[in-house]
Amino acid sequence: VKIDNHINRDLLLAHARRQLNQPDASAVSAHLRDCNACADDYGSILLKLRIKRVAAPEWIWQGIRTAMEESPQCRPSRFGLWPSLAVAALILVVCTTGYFRFRADRTQPFDVGQYLYALEVESTGPNPVNMRVHFPGFLAYDRQSALSDSQFQPQVQGYRLIEQRILKSGGLQVVQLLYDSGSDSFIVFIAPRKVIFNFGLFKLVDDEAQGITCRRAVCPRQDIYQFTTAKRKYVFVHKHNPSVGAGPLFAELMRSAP
Ligand SMILES: [Zn+2]
Repeated sequence: VKIDNHINRDLLLAHARRQLNQPDASAVSAHLRDCNACADDYGSILLKLRIKRVAAPEWIWQGIRTAMEESPQCRPSRFGLWPSLAVAALILVVCTTGYFRFRADRTQPFDVGQYLYALEVESTGPNPVNMRVHFPGFLAYDRQSALSDSQFQPQVQGYRLIEQRILKSGGLQVVQLLYDSGSDSFIVFIAPRKVIFNFGLFKLVDDEAQGITCRRAVCPRQDIYQFTTAKRKYVFVHKHNPSVGAGPLFAELMRSAP
């Protein structure tokens, strides 16, 4: 496909379902990196695809049965069953609406895997340029807010915070911090604990870094750690370098995490 303007919904949907061939998928990915409008549409399509797979759970049906049995209108009356069916329908609407809001709130994923994969293929590791290219939808964010959100220091070991951005999309809020030492960089993503980071192709394993119990994405080229506290979820990304131990750096950052 050739993309002249914005990407139409059918194409985004096919991309989300991984039905496109490689050249088309690359063209769509390239456009999504540059276009916030299409990236937002794509995000909402991904969200809907996830929600569609959620069937109404058993407790909703149990609630309806109980309500019908307890409802005085269930007794035979000259109105027959219609009033209780109306009650049941209303309960179903209220329950499913609430349930799907609850699911949407809980399950909207941040698709970090596809961006990390692009970063890994490129093999430069995180830096100010590819952080913009590979992570679409993030906007400039206030430095003090970013530091108070994360409870991080502006300097950690030899690394200084040089850039902070925020992604806000349909209830999803992720802060992205870039630290740089002049010769080396790392990124940290910070989100409310409920946000799911989708790592896609990466396999997560349990790990421990300097006493910090965490999850690590298996990747030969990058050090990728996920750490969850009572309030927040953190993902740390650093280009793997045998002479720079990322574990101690990650652990020092996370010790102050609330
Ligand atoms: Zn577009």
